[in-house]
Amino acid sequence: MLRYRKEKEEIVSRFLRLYDAGMINMFEGNISMRMDDCVLITPSQMEKDQITAEDVVEIDMEGSRLNDNGRSPSSEYRMHLAIYRLRDDLKAVVHTHSPYATAYAVAGIPISVSMAETYMFFGGEIPVCSYGAPGTDDISADFRKYFIDEDKDSVLVGNHGAVSSARTLQEAFSKTEAIEKLAMIDSEVRKLGSERRFTEAEKETLLKFYRERKDR
Ligand SMILES: [Zn+2]
Repeated sequence: MLRYRKEKEEIVSRFLRLYDAGMINMFEGNISMRMDDCVLITPSQMEKDQITAEDVVEIDMEGSRLNDNGRSPSSEYRMHLAIYRLRDDLKAVVHTHSPYATAYAVAGIPISVSMAETYMFFGGEIPVCSYGAPGTDDISADFRKYFIDEDKDSVLVGNHGAVSSARTLQEAFSKTEAIEKLAMIDSEVRKLGSERRFTEAEKETLLKFYRERKDR
């Protein structure tokens, strides 16, 4: 019997949706979920559209493999574990190199477009954290500043991509989609050369939703 079959199937189905939407390709993108006794994470070096629930890897909080399915965990497992170590409330992480969000990460520009979603879902701008070589702990060197001090659940990974976390995989997935859309709109608004910024009162009303969602 496959442990955590339901959760592993959800990981695979959301992975395929990201792949079909062009948000991840064969070489990049990973999803994890934290369970009571392990972290479930997508495998490395597999064709994304070939992955099944049996291929999902179980690791502990040090990154050691717990199940023997012949697969290795995603090479970015350290980034996922860094988020889980910082925040007990977060149970799912989605990492992509979706094109518009990644363009902002490479440009070093936070996504700050004046739309309700920016404030309601992300608590204001989506910041860019510093660069670290792929697969190393350097990627998460300043995660504490954003995930704890600024209470963010999503950041752009410098010169690399985007990462979103949440209490459920569904929510982390929705944030991943939302970031890409906001980045696309932010980019178009910058091209238009004009933006009506929210007033402080308008921002405050929207930020209340963000805080209430978190307190739920
Ligand atoms: Zn990556």
